[in-house]
Amino acid sequence: MSNKLIFELYSEGRVGYRFPEQDVPAKPVSEFISGGVKREKAASLPQVAEIDVIRHYTELASKSFGVDAGFYPLGSCTMKYNPKINEDVASFPEFADIHPLQSEETVQGMLELIYKTTESLAEITGMKWGTLQPFAGAHGEYTGMKLFKAYFKKTGDTKRTKVLVPTSAHGTNPASAHISGFDVEEVQADERGLVSVESLKEHLSDEVAGIMLTNPNTLGLFEKDIVEIAKLVHDAGGLLYYDGANMNAIMGKVRPGDMGFDVIHLNLHKTFSTPHGGGGPGSGPVLVGDKLIPFLPVPDVKKEGDTYVLDCSKPDTIGRISGFYGNIGVIVRAYAYILAMGSDGLKKASEMAVLNANYLKERLKATYHLAYDNTCMHEFVLSAETMKEEFGVSALDVAKALLDKGIHPMTIYFPLIVHEAMMIEPTETESKQTLDHFADVMLEIYKKAKDNPEQLKAAPVLTPVKRIDEVQAAKKPVLRWISE
Ligand SMILES: *Cc1c(COP(=O)(O)O)cnc(C)c1O
Repeated sequence: MSNKLIFELYSEGRVGYRFPEQDVPAKPVSEFISGGVKREKAASLPQVAEIDVIRHYTELASKSFGVDAGFYPLGSCTMKYNPKINEDVASFPEFADIHPLQSEETVQGMLELIYKTTESLAEITGMKWGTLQPFAGAHGEYTGMKLFKAYFKKTGDTKRTKVLVPTSAHGTNPASAHISGFDVEEVQADERGLVSVESLKEHLSDEVAGIMLTNPNTLGLFEKDIVEIAKLVHDAGGLLYYDGANMNAIMGKVRPGDMGFDVIHLNLHKTFSTPHGGGGPGSGPVLVGDKLIPFLPVPDVKKEGDTYVLDCSKPDTIGRISGFYGNIGVIVRAYAYILAMGSDGLKKASEMAVLNANYLKERLKATYHLAYDNTCMHEFVLSAETMKEEFGVSALDVAKALLDKGIHPMTIYFPLIVHEAMMIEPTETESKQTLDHFADVMLEIYKKAKDNPEQLKAAPVLTPVKRIDEVQAAKKPVLRWISE
């Protein structure tokens, strides 16, 4: 295997195309391109033959790791297998080849799909209506915060400038609240790893716009006091935002709307059958209860008799959140997935996700330190803290050792409230054999940490790139080739 870049395969004069002989008089380029936009010298493009290009990219593809290549227990990210039939459906020309500027009567099918997907997601979450416009979970959070703002502007309650976020929250939560102009205040977790009701009470006031929560929280624990928390926030005049990125913990079991939440975002690219990674593609629909419907983004899709129409007549709307109607390919996959699974199937998926996580937790907790020893939901968090003290082996070393075993590492160093955190989410799509294999590998790594820590610190040794300098890679990444 070569580790060369395409630029380094360069061989002067080699090309991957063939044009017929020119049979008309040549014209100088300056006749077509004038003035300052013309290049001064030829672009330094790789000169390679077609076969070099094919081999180069095929080799790169074989080096990349995804769910289709192996187990990927990346906590919080829900990297699960996604049925290929949903890819097929999304590529139907009736969906893939239409244009967002076509007139409404020519895209009735797509409008119906948007309407019905919104309706299904509202049912799954216990909300009333929503928007499919946001392109990611964080974009959904931003939309939700804009809804908070618009609501308090309408009620005239403009001194509500604070948003509460628990210490265990996903990093995007405080970021979304902050970028929307709110001041973020942290609510502490208690010894159970759950939101401390006492801490919450101390923060509540007539300056609080609301709270952003996820349930189960990022420790994979169900917030048992959620009904009381919702009542406290509502009684203080605030709203509740639900981070529903990880809906596959509770689908068909409980609904955020019934817990008292006013707004939620979902990550269709986690729970609802779109493979993701490297930043996309995503979709972060936002669903709301009655109170917030008037503020939803436009255009909204409405049904009038047998016709679907785009409706922009919302005087209190926060406006558009995306150029058109959202990431349609992702939405089509989600709708196909929901229809294929049915309500029983979605419920079963959540049950399996929770069962798989608890099975792995039980197999590993006698060896690795379990941060909060409780029944978990779809994920759980181990800590390498004691291991680090005893053998000098950190969560990072464990993650690197997994790479040599052909397993994608779990999420490490998140959530922040657990030292040396290792957050594991097996998902519902893995078999008992795969879970057992992973557990065996984890136990083997622990044994090696004890017997031969130096060897672990050198991992990975079987990957194309060995241990990198994490700080340099984050602070001074070299992301492009520069010709000498
Ligand atoms: C993934 C995730 C997000 C952010 O979603 P993006 O699509 O990456 O913006 C937010 N909250 C939780 C709990 C998540 O797991």
